[in-house]
Amino acid sequence: MTGSKSKICPPQGDEHKIALPEFLQRLGVDESGLREQEAARRLQECGPNVLEETGKESILSKYMRQFRNFFSILLIIGAILSFLGEYLDPGKGNLYIGIALGVVVILNGTFTFVQEYQAAKTMESFRQLLPPRAKVLREGKVRDVLASELVVGDIILLEEGDKVPADGRLIETNSLKVDHSTITGEAEPQLRSLECTNSNILECRNMVFSGTLVQSGNGKAVVFGTGQNTQIGKLAILTEQILRVDTPIRRELNRFIKIISTIAILMGVTFFILAFLIQDTFLASLIFAIGIIVANVPEGLLPTVTLALSLASRRMASRNALIKNLESVETLGSTTVICTDKTGTLTQNRMAVNSLIVGFENLVPKITSGLEKRVVEQETEESTKQGIAGKVTGSGAKRVYVVESPIWDPKKVPPTLIRVAGLCNNAKLRELPTGYTGDPTEGALLVFANSFQDIKTLQSDYQRLKEFPFDSLTKRMEVICRTPEGNLEIYLKGAPEVVVKMCGSVRDSGEVRTLIENDKKELLDRHLELARKGERIIALAYRQAEEQKEYTEDFIFLGFIGIVDPPRPEVREAIAKCHAAGIKVVMITGDHPVTAEAIAKNVGLVDFGNLEIITGDELESLSRTDLSSRLKNPSIVFARTSPIQKLKIVQLFQAEGEIVTMTGDGVNDAPAIKNADMGVAMGSGTDVAREAADMVLLDDNFATIVNAVEEGRTVFDNIKKFIVYILASNIPEVLPFIAFVLFALPLPMQVQLILAIDLGTDMLPAIALGMEKAEGDIMKRPPRARDEKLLTPQVLLTAYGIKGPIEAAAGFFCYFAVLFEGGWKFGEQLANSNPLYMQAITAFFSAVIICQIANVFASRTRFQSVFTMGLFSNHTILLGIASELLILVFIIWNPFANLIFNTSPLDLRYLLFAVPFAIFLLGIDELRKYLLRKNVSWAARFLKW
Ligand code: ADP
Ligand code: MG
Repeated sequence: MTGSKSKICPPQGDEHKIALPEFLQRLGVDESGLREQEAARRLQECGPNVLEETGKESILSKYMRQFRNFFSILLIIGAILSFLGEYLDPGKGNLYIGIALGVVVILNGTFTFVQEYQAAKTMESFRQLLPPRAKVLREGKVRDVLASELVVGDIILLEEGDKVPADGRLIETNSLKVDHSTITGEAEPQLRSLECTNSNILECRNMVFSGTLVQSGNGKAVVFGTGQNTQIGKLAILTEQILRVDTPIRRELNRFIKIISTIAILMGVTFFILAFLIQDTFLASLIFAIGIIVANVPEGLLPTVTLALSLASRRMASRNALIKNLESVETLGSTTVICTDKTGTLTQNRMAVNSLIVGFENLVPKITSGLEKRVVEQETEESTKQGIAGKVTGSGAKRVYVVESPIWDPKKVPPTLIRVAGLCNNAKLRELPTGYTGDPTEGALLVFANSFQDIKTLQSDYQRLKEFPFDSLTKRMEVICRTPEGNLEIYLKGAPEVVVKMCGSVRDSGEVRTLIENDKKELLDRHLELARKGERIIALAYRQAEEQKEYTEDFIFLGFIGIVDPPRPEVREAIAKCHAAGIKVVMITGDHPVTAEAIAKNVGLVDFGNLEIITGDELESLSRTDLSSRLKNPSIVFARTSPIQKLKIVQLFQAEGEIVTMTGDGVNDAPAIKNADMGVAMGSGTDVAREAADMVLLDDNFATIVNAVEEGRTVFDNIKKFIVYILASNIPEVLPFIAFVLFALPLPMQVQLILAIDLGTDMLPAIALGMEKAEGDIMKRPPRARDEKLLTPQVLLTAYGIKGPIEAAAGFFCYFAVLFEGGWKFGEQLANSNPLYMQAITAFFSAVIICQIANVFASRTRFQSVFTMGLFSNHTILLGIASELLILVFIIWNPFANLIFNTSPLDLRYLLFAVPFAIFLLGIDELRKYLLRKNVSWAARFLKW
């Protein structure tokens, strides 16, 4: 055994060339797959089928990147200038400022790095919530296992939408097409075959490679390479899954950094020259320039933004929305249009047959049951334990649906109709008589058929010979079966207009007669009665077959079956929320327009003005201008569309200037998901859709998208809030230096104290603002304009024009109070070590902190009165204020702090002088919000952010 070990794990490179029997023998497997025991043994030997993330940006280089942003560079320049000052005039404390700035740069970089690292970890943990799974044949049975448990020799089953879990050689294919772009960069999906077509393994068509995507068809392959022993493992290209794309928030932050840095540099240089001209001492001017720079840079901002985003993403995850890229949280918040699937997202996807039309006759059931009570879902214990399919929920448990349908008189239902419903069907019954797994539409039909005739017997009596699967494009499915008498019968089910068109006759009152055009019209009218109740209609037909091919005419029409799919109860409210929030809701469905309209009404899409229904055909035939005017409606339904038309819909809306969120689950949805501003995949969807999406909905629920939008809006608001908060203190940090130059005052603020504010007292309150709950009106105002920036003139005006100056006034007031009461005369210079001077700057600093405490309160809301928020609704704010006070007390009264910051204990009286200023600041900001709420136009123009 140990001898074969080294042979099995790593591939030998000729797997594509050697004869199949030799290949299978080498891997020690036959067509029934490995035995579980052997698989477990190989897993021990070869290790799990996972890729080590090689070629990843090294931790060090990631860390170093933190020092390449403008803020760090400015601070480094500040440090260099300080060392220059020390060199020119040693012993004046410039050395310490230089060192302090150096430490700040490192601390800040480290903090930002840690934040980003943790965010990356969080993203990674989200991905782990949806572990890749694979279908594998072992001991003759199909098992659903974690992809990481695959071993060499396993036979895997591949289906449309799957991500290939390991390298394998095909032993069966049905028009299998694979997208190889992850490995070869070749974007066009390639058809697979069983022959070796090329001596280069990557070009050889009998191969499938780990990490590639199955675009269509299906097949079976024998695994010969797992984990690092795969082509992708060798290429080491599975680097950072998330490429650094410029999301809106990233662009915004870069802009923000640029603007603030430009202000800092301009100010620094101008006043350096001015200082030099006025005071004529190079050194003093230098200190001045450093101070200006340090005062202008909001050191704590970058890590705070990352923290706010990652907290939001965690909140979203706890509400079933997993985002892949931290910054797309914020993109969600700017959404103006949500395009959503109907089935499963607006509705529960718990389908049950409710109506039956046989021929032309609408059959009244013998026993009905109430619509609400009809559908009951049960997740049976057995299914959770076994954890089969893996496509339904993150945990891999397959849902078993239990439905209850009306009962019809069996004598009135023709056996052929039962056969079509039961045999043209891929769902499976679960042990309960009314439970099923698989496609819900088919499951409902299967349960229906089973209530007339035992499905198991039916299936063994009528052997299935061939299947032409359902496709949203053709909207029909056919199967060919051999009857017990040995004839071939072909069973057809599909969308009514598709099926009726294919019929030549009808089975009416027990007789088969020819269908004339008028009959067809009448049939289609008949089914609309059901559609108007919101039922999903399937038409059934059959015919004799001579060959095993897909027939398209001369079918005998049997009847219509109406299926109910109750809307999700929470959707109505979510849609109302969207409308209040100025977000358009667009329902996209393959169902008939009449069914779609009924459901649209049911979920409340028509409560808000006109409902516009556009069919797939109209989408193709209408001109751009016609469409564009119809897209203006607040609620739009696209009916009888195919998934590929979704891309067109995304592009239409984007051309109208909308920011589009698009949902999807199938392979065909991937292009639309990719192209939408925010692509959303269903947790139950295909790997391909999940791969393309920015967000995955674990519960497939529309309401979850709306919650996520709310979260996105909140985070944008909150980032603005703490920007205003942080920037306000820049003014009392900068003005002292200007006063120092222009009026030759003893410098009221020193660099160490600026750092104490930016990196000490401001930090926790800013973080707390990032955690603030949404203001009451968050989903009542229109989406923010596409070009609305984080840093707007209004933000700057509020921070630099109103709050900052009040804080500076408080600072100067307390500063002068100390000085004048201490006998200081205007124009008198004071040494750094003069106790009066030390007290004065302590007073200035304390006043700023006291005002910032008021500011953090004021910044909790943008429009609403802060008194509506509840004092204790955000505990972190209180913690932040406590931290501010603690640092303040420490800097005033701790002897060691006094030494570092050149501060001194102070009469409490001077602190009280700042309080009226703080109250004034709070009051002014309340007034600002009041004016905004009253819609005063000048206020909205200048002060609304
Ligand atoms: P959606 O998923 O948006 O509800 P589909 O494309 O799945 O739309 O379905 C479109 C139409 O095709 C349905 O209205 C129904 O008439 C028919 N249909 C749906 N599923 C099946 C199926 N499994 N077999 C046959 N016909 C189906
Ligand atoms: Mg469907």
